[in-house]
Amino acid sequence: MSKSELLQLDIATAGKGLRDGDFTAIELTEAYLDAVEASRELNIFITETPDRAMADAVAADKSIKAGTSSKMTGMPIGMKDLFCTQGIKTTAASNILGEFIPPYESTISARLKAAGTILLGKTNLDEFAMGSSNTTSAFGAAINPWELTEDKKPLTPGGSSGGSAAAVAAGAAIAATGTDTGGSIRQPAAFCGIVGMKPTYGRCSRWGVVAFASSLDQAGPFARTVRDAAIMLETMAGHDPKDSTSAAQATPNFEALIDGGVKGMRVGIPKEYRVEDMPEEIDSIWRRGIEMVTAAGAEVVEVSLPMTMSALPTYYIVAPAEASANLARYDGVRYGARVEGDDLNGMYSATRGQGFGKEVRRRIMIGTYVLSAGYYDAYYKKAQRVRTLISQDFDNAFHSVDALLTPTTPGAAFPIGEKEDDPISMYLNDVFTVPASLAGLPAISVPVGSNENGLPLGLQIIGRPFDEGSVFRLGQALEDAAQFDKRPRLTLEGFK
Ligand code: GLN
Repeated sequence: MSKSELLQLDIATAGKGLRDGDFTAIELTEAYLDAVEASRELNIFITETPDRAMADAVAADKSIKAGTSSKMTGMPIGMKDLFCTQGIKTTAASNILGEFIPPYESTISARLKAAGTILLGKTNLDEFAMGSSNTTSAFGAAINPWELTEDKKPLTPGGSSGGSAAAVAAGAAIAATGTDTGGSIRQPAAFCGIVGMKPTYGRCSRWGVVAFASSLDQAGPFARTVRDAAIMLETMAGHDPKDSTSAAQATPNFEALIDGGVKGMRVGIPKEYRVEDMPEEIDSIWRRGIEMVTAAGAEVVEVSLPMTMSALPTYYIVAPAEASANLARYDGVRYGARVEGDDLNGMYSATRGQGFGKEVRRRIMIGTYVLSAGYYDAYYKKAQRVRTLISQDFDNAFHSVDALLTPTTPGAAFPIGEKEDDPISMYLNDVFTVPASLAGLPAISVPVGSNENGLPLGLQIIGRPFDEGSVFRLGQALEDAAQFDKRPRLTLEGFK
């Protein structure tokens, strides 16, 4: 098989090829290392780990020969640079972590390693995962492999997990890890035309993941197909005694849950998601999605989630509040960068002032403000109450439906730099993704079509807590009906 043919395979087909002896993990890895190099202009990886990748590949081939391999053995993946990797620089895309080399491995990356995956490198992201365009990275923005046909302006891959999404879309990784606090897996997946899954809060361990907002952060997979996302989640998920918020739930065979179809499933269409000024292209892809699941045998009903429009303001109080507390640890003393000052306080402010980028400082300011005496009740406490009401909306809806179908984003990928001076319009990107985050619900984004510029558009399915199975099944129905097989320029031209 040629390198470009190897790069077209997904996890399910590559796994079969490896086990049948059609090619080796070393061959697959070499193809991907070439692709990583060929796509360097996209600034996808902060750190490439080719030596580690080759060593992983040798080990993978051994375990395939010995018959001890898993479904993920031999799969070359990207790891968001928010997961601590022992002995490999971990930056969170921030200068404040300096040359931080973790002395330990995150649970998720350890599980993927134990399953025999191959680490290609650490992918770019928004600094501390705060952003929707990957532009707050201290290492420069990652670039979407899709481009506008006419003006060729570089587009954002979305954020915060922009590097991971771009890697999978560009064919520079077969799959990748992401984290989603308010949409950072689903929105980049939609912008890059791939599948991104945020599991139920607690499904995946947060241990060893650089914390942003602990009550919201959740890891999940990026993949080219729904099946691949299910396969990868099986390896990532599972109870972890090292994370007190990790759920003591058995991990189902997610792949098996995909099959079975959606006949008789009830799918809710939340009427409040039909926001004012919604672009026609989003409305129309949503209508098509509704037709697709209906044709597949699901029953579609309108539901109401009255608190929807309060989700964004609530998120932008809760997330910065938690971030300001989590980021207090970067003080120039324990690890990471340090900038000397006249005295201890001077050192703190010089380190934090220079170490954090503008968006991170903005979040810390908002967070400390809403938590301060006098404002705590007016903002933080109120936001917590609204968060409960948002969860109750979902609970009520799930009395009558099994899952919800909505757009993932209010638009397609936009040019890098476009919303830079307007934080509010940047935050609006998350309008459809934050409600499920606040309620801790599983949600997936599946590419369903493209807009008139040829850019991909995704739809989101939100499920009941720990019912990833229904989410995957509906996702598969959308994938089957949409037959979205367009690829961005790099996979078409670069790898021939
Ligand atoms: N875009 C959102 C934010 O900036 C979500 C980020 C995320 O999910 N990590 O907070």
